[in-house]
Amino acid sequence: MSSENLHPETLAISSGRPAHQAGVGINVPISLNSTFVANGPINYGRTGNETWQSLEQAISALEEASATLLFSSGMAAITAAFSLLPHGAPVVASHEGYSGTMALLKRYHAEGRLEVRFVDITNTQEVISQLQGAVFLWVESPTNPGLGVAEVEVIIAEAKKRSIGVGFDNTFATPLNQKPLTFGADIVMHSVTKYLAGHSDVILGSLSTKDPALHARLQDARVSYGSIAGPFESWLALRGLRTFPLRYAKAQANAAALAKKLESHSAVTHVRYPGFGAIVSFVITGDAAAAERVCDSASLIMNATSLGGVETTWERRRRWPLESASVPENLIRLSVGCENVDDLWADIDTALTKA
Ligand SMILES: *Cc1c(COP(=O)(O)O)cnc(C)c1O
Repeated sequence: MSSENLHPETLAISSGRPAHQAGVGINVPISLNSTFVANGPINYGRTGNETWQSLEQAISALEEASATLLFSSGMAAITAAFSLLPHGAPVVASHEGYSGTMALLKRYHAEGRLEVRFVDITNTQEVISQLQGAVFLWVESPTNPGLGVAEVEVIIAEAKKRSIGVGFDNTFATPLNQKPLTFGADIVMHSVTKYLAGHSDVILGSLSTKDPALHARLQDARVSYGSIAGPFESWLALRGLRTFPLRYAKAQANAAALAKKLESHSAVTHVRYPGFGAIVSFVITGDAAAAERVCDSASLIMNATSLGGVETTWERRRRWPLESASVPENLIRLSVGCENVDDLWADIDTALTKA
């Protein structure tokens, strides 16, 4: 059966398995080897690993990529992608995005390594006007933490019309909501740390492509920088990925329900939920200190950064000095997990009322 006909929940479970052979374990082993007997497919542990490859195959299947490369973190994957650009290259990127990406791009810009044109990625006309003469477009949609949504198919098509490379951070939406490679993006990046692994116990990143030449250049970057994944982390993430579609569907349904309830809570002034995904950002009536008290007042929901785990967490985003000043001081970002939605709502309501 061709994998093209299979649905995501089937692909997540069936991809990257060892050959169906008598006596062979159904899960890939954790390959703990730095070196290999000569003249085989893998020679050295920085250039390849059987456990990575299984996870890479599974991510490729979900993103409709021809190949995927695993990295030691999402930021290592992003750094490898930008490393392909020539010195001083003009790049268009959202002015609101993952704080680590924003810090990296600002540093590259300040150093003259890249000429970054920061835009409102949700403003299609502004994006198009800045594409003139650019060589690369970096898209994150929905944005973090404001959850703005870009017209992704339109801006990717406009970039490709101008032969501009497109990289896409698909961590929030995941391939269950959008597959940027099918819209023409060249590279899809994941912080595998988040939904794909899903249990808040590993840090990993990935880059997926449809273009073998681009894949080879990214692989060279990974070998040169040595930003490789650990075999155990890869195995854990693959174990997590088996249930990713189930977890994400549940978390997304919970998030949609909670966003609706937050809309009518008297202690909440604005709710940002793009209609999909499992992140909800909301602004409360009180100040920054009140928002901190809310985050500390729940009993189930943990006051913790990051997102995409089975457990629900929240935090006041501006507690991070790197977070954009355009993000309200009293904005709370809620990463919705897979608990019972009534239990979550009771916890949120109690925390909002207590604080
Ligand atoms: C977490 C995250 C990253 C960075 O990934 P790490 O695995 O933490 O290095 C990049 N983009 C988005 C949207 C993220 O949420």
